[in-house]
Amino acid sequence: MIHPENDRQFKSLKVNKGVTMSPSVNPYLKKITHQKKKSISDFVEGILQGNITVLSRAVTLIESSKKEHQQQAQQIIEQCLPYAGKSVRIGITGVPGAGKSTSIDAFGMHLVKQGHKLAVLAIDPSSERSKGSILGDKTRMETLSREKNAFIRPSPTAGSLGGVARKTRETIVLCEAAGFDTIFIETVGVGQSETAVHSMVDFFLLIQLANTGDELQGIKRGIMEMTDGIVINKADGDNIARANLAAGHFRNALHLFPLPDSGWTPKVLTYSGRELTGITEIWNMIDEYIAFTKANGYFDAKRNEQTKHRMYESIHHILHQTFYQHPDVERLLPQMEECVLNNEISPFTAAKQLIDLFTHNNNNT
Ligand code: GDP
Repeated sequence: MIHPENDRQFKSLKVNKGVTMSPSVNPYLKKITHQKKKSISDFVEGILQGNITVLSRAVTLIESSKKEHQQQAQQIIEQCLPYAGKSVRIGITGVPGAGKSTSIDAFGMHLVKQGHKLAVLAIDPSSERSKGSILGDKTRMETLSREKNAFIRPSPTAGSLGGVARKTRETIVLCEAAGFDTIFIETVGVGQSETAVHSMVDFFLLIQLANTGDELQGIKRGIMEMTDGIVINKADGDNIARANLAAGHFRNALHLFPLPDSGWTPKVLTYSGRELTGITEIWNMIDEYIAFTKANGYFDAKRNEQTKHRMYESIHHILHQTFYQHPDVERLLPQMEECVLNNEISPFTAAKQLIDLFTHNNNNT
């Protein structure tokens, strides 16, 4: 480049030849970041050692929508499976305001003080983490979140209930492999999420309040049938008598249902998550249930049923994905939709043709 200022007449403005700069990207950086990337066995080893940071990173892989992360997650889960299954899994549900966070904090501290390791997970398909998840938020369980033997994880971000539930099930496997002996799965008492939680736990706990006048109104029959224990919170101050009365109503109502397959008659207890009263009794009930169902074989039978259910669910999920992602199906689907709307072809025939196309192409590949 010609620099006129280098002309003798501009002596004082002389531009010196620059110094060659080293490249802005550190050539070692790639190597370093590469080294930092954990291998599958690093993950598995870390999890089995109970390393919470590694566990959290693995759960992030489970939650990721990137194909590469999902593949890694599946490999980690696969290797952790032999070490999983040894915890007691408890589903906890109740309407917003029933006192779930307060109670989980109290129940959790009760367990941690006894030397247990507790993981608190949540299923809340309506939440988006960026907007602040309703469930699993650490600030809601203040005391517990400071305990080193407690792992609190918010619900996987918004998605279909099936997707969120699958991710939670996979997270259970990793938590169990990391040595957590008790797993709580929390859900709000609205929508279909209780059914999803019920399908992955050993004990299903329903938190209720006494001050709604007619307690039984508004409780879905399905939830009453799923529950193994009903606990009435806020039995403190002038609310104790009302809580006891409500407990009586629930006991009567439960008598109207047939005995569940477990052979266990659900119990109704009162407690206060705030005053920390009645909590030992709740834990005694759960221990009693576990011992009872282990003795009569129901505990293992239910777990087997859940495992089988998970396999069928996975089949549905994989079939669904491979079908809709098939290039021919993707291409033809809008046309077929159009034909169906124009009454040129019946919905059934359209579906059959697309599926035939899919299976035919798959057979040829
Ligand atoms: P969640 O929405 O089900 O998680 O309910 P929270 O745990 O956030 O509790 C809802 C409200 O009820 C809060 O204002 C709590 O302070 C209050 N609360 C929770 N447990 C008790 C209890 O045992 N007694 C009383 N009096 N209030 C409680």
